[in-house]
Amino acid sequence: MSDFPIRAEDMTACVTLPPISREGFRSVSVAVERASTIVFPDAAAYAARNDNGHGAYSYGLHGTPTSRQLEAQIAALEGGTHCMVTPSGLVAITLAILSLVRAGETVLIPDTVYPPVRAFAHRMLAGLGVTVVYYDPTIGSRIDALLGPEVRLVLTESPGSTTMEIQDLPAIAAAAKARGIPTACDNSWATPLFCKPLALGIDISIEAVSKYIAGHSDLLMGSITTSDPELWDRLRTGFKLLGLGVSPDDCSLALRGLQSLPLRLAHAGSIGLALAGRLQTCPAVAAVLHPALPQFSGHDIWKRDFTGASGVFSVIPVPQAAPRVSRALEAMQHFSIGASWGGLHSIVAPMDLTGNRTVGTAPTGPVIRFSVGGEAPEALAADLDAFCAVLEGL
Ligand SMILES: *Cc1c(COP(=O)(O)O)cnc(C)c1O
Repeated sequence: MSDFPIRAEDMTACVTLPPISREGFRSVSVAVERASTIVFPDAAAYAARNDNGHGAYSYGLHGTPTSRQLEAQIAALEGGTHCMVTPSGLVAITLAILSLVRAGETVLIPDTVYPPVRAFAHRMLAGLGVTVVYYDPTIGSRIDALLGPEVRLVLTESPGSTTMEIQDLPAIAAAAKARGIPTACDNSWATPLFCKPLALGIDISIEAVSKYIAGHSDLLMGSITTSDPELWDRLRTGFKLLGLGVSPDDCSLALRGLQSLPLRLAHAGSIGLALAGRLQTCPAVAAVLHPALPQFSGHDIWKRDFTGASGVFSVIPVPQAAPRVSRALEAMQHFSIGASWGGLHSIVAPMDLTGNRTVGTAPTGPVIRFSVGGEAPEALAADLDAFCAVLEGL
């Protein structure tokens, strides 16, 4: 007992929620519903808490109405029946691999994959006895030659990280489907607004929600969407077994971000394309890597399968400009130097791809990746002019 006793009824009242009326309350925003424990009306309901499959509320780790609301909204945009959010985009990819591929089996990964996936494959999958085969991202239907009986998953990512290669997703999906092998696509660049992998025949669509969907550079999240009930069961089981969960506060921020995704994406996409065109006139730039530029090698497939471009693209400086790259990046006022992309602050990142290609050859110098934010286009254009001038040695 404490020296300062508190009245028994007050003590209980502090942790008891009196009923309040919800009558007449309707909001267009989603409530943040936090829970570790979920309580049940009686012992029988508790005993049956897992009988309703993955959809039941059983423990906060497995979802609350806030996360389910976000999942339902992403599923609708992807055109899928099942969606789960994950603690990061990276874990959405690693979970898909861990859930579907076992020791002695093989996963096919595009050579231009998001680099941390390559590190995961090298440092974790190899030790688990999973074989990783990298393939040319532009392989298309020729992927059939790699689809042996040991292959359990084909991962795709279009455009490829940093160098932006566009994959022939329908051709890859069809070849894999003919052999009963599931396919997954990292769709973070396009978001479901500009590409719908499931409609192109891909089985699992993955988003780094951290990027465009959340959209404000302030949270980390991924999503996995599918319409295949058997794949869903294996993915969702893997999620539970690994003890993964997502905070409802983060889901609430992502739900808020998602509302303005069309506006942000339309803005970043059209300004990004204009800026990419401007960079093409910079003599110190050897190549601008942007799928919506007609001369880009994957442009025709992009035009067929995508309905737009987001605001992320890359440039390769001419080799002589390499010593001036750091100063050129620092000459910009609005593009901050940093990792990640898809927010309302413009970001630039010098990417070193050394060691990041197995099938193809990585560019030897830095590849500079731009992410267009919400600043005025004139300000960003002035930044790029300053960047070019320093790169040229002016
Ligand atoms: C950033 C990114 C991811 C990972 O997302 P995180 O939430 O940062 O883990 C996955 N794929 C691509 C293409 C990305 O750019």
